[in-house]
Amino acid sequence: MSARILDGKALAGRIEDSIRAEAASFSRVAGRPPRLVVVLVGDVAASASYVKSKAAAAARVGIDAEVVRVPASADTQTLVELVRALAREEQGSVDGILVQLPLPAHVDTQAVLDSVPADRDVDGFHPENAGLLSQGRPRFVPCTAAGVQRMLVDAGIATAGREAVIIGRSDIVGKPLALLLSGRGEGGDATVTLCHSRSDDLAAICRRADILVAAVGKPGLVTAGMVKPGAAVVDVGINRVADATASGGSRLVGDVDFAGVSAVAGWISPVPGGVGPLTVAMLLANTLLAAELRLGRRA
Ligand code: NDP
Repeated sequence: MSARILDGKALAGRIEDSIRAEAASFSRVAGRPPRLVVVLVGDVAASASYVKSKAAAAARVGIDAEVVRVPASADTQTLVELVRALAREEQGSVDGILVQLPLPAHVDTQAVLDSVPADRDVDGFHPENAGLLSQGRPRFVPCTAAGVQRMLVDAGIATAGREAVIIGRSDIVGKPLALLLSGRGEGGDATVTLCHSRSDDLAAICRRADILVAAVGKPGLVTAGMVKPGAAVVDVGINRVADATASGGSRLVGDVDFAGVSAVAGWISPVPGGVGPLTVAMLLANTLLAAELRLGRRA
């Protein structure tokens, strides 16, 4: 068997097309485009590259994105005050505020994230938004989790009644995705198992999965022997590994052994070109939602 590809890049392009039309409609009514501010602390190359692709995607759909760069030496209080000032800026024309993670080790990440007001929280990390998601009435859903669910729905992969296994229990990916897949309705109603580093016999649990999602950050963690034949395998992981044949001597891979698992799975998402572009697309969707909620165009 050779798995069909879950082409996140193509789907993200289609999502961008619909957001572009809605952003134009918003701009006509509001007299300004939706506005996103991204706070980038320090000069970690991977973070700078993610921020660049988020800003480029925003520009493609008519969302005004500004990147505020802050030196790595900034302390927690400085960052909290910066975020609060952004939320007050220009009579509140900033619709979405995103603090790019990870923050330097000396910063209290939770305190900085908590300072993003719930109604500008386009990353979906605020306790109020996490609470709404857990109660089954989502508002801003963490972008990667939302992107994975959208990918499954778009491909017509049934979730209702199926076994979904997620490896990784982070607040930004695994946990919200478990809530989405086990919630009621389209893209939900699955029986979800959430695995982590303390799970016993991970391979046996994974082999039960009709839908297997890897969100760990360990290249090659998921091998063919852990996959039920015909399963949908979604690879969230992003890992840079050495590769003498690639430009720069390195390349990006996920958590899944792509070649081996492709021979067993029914569907597989590639890295790059899978979940990554959808994460960005869902950020654009959340920014538009934030703008429309503030304008009273959506309830
Ligand atoms: P975290 O480091 O926050 O969480 C990793 C999770 O994996 C933890 O729950 C950890 O368990 C678990 N884990 C670690 N080792 C094992 C193991 N051997 N077996 C089973 N579980 C294990 O990572 P994130 O959720 O932030 O990110 C996960 C991956 O996804 C990373 O590669 C990241 O780069 C990528 N990512 C990709 C995005 C995209 O857009 N494509 C967006 C966000 C992240 P425990 O809790 O017990 O420590």
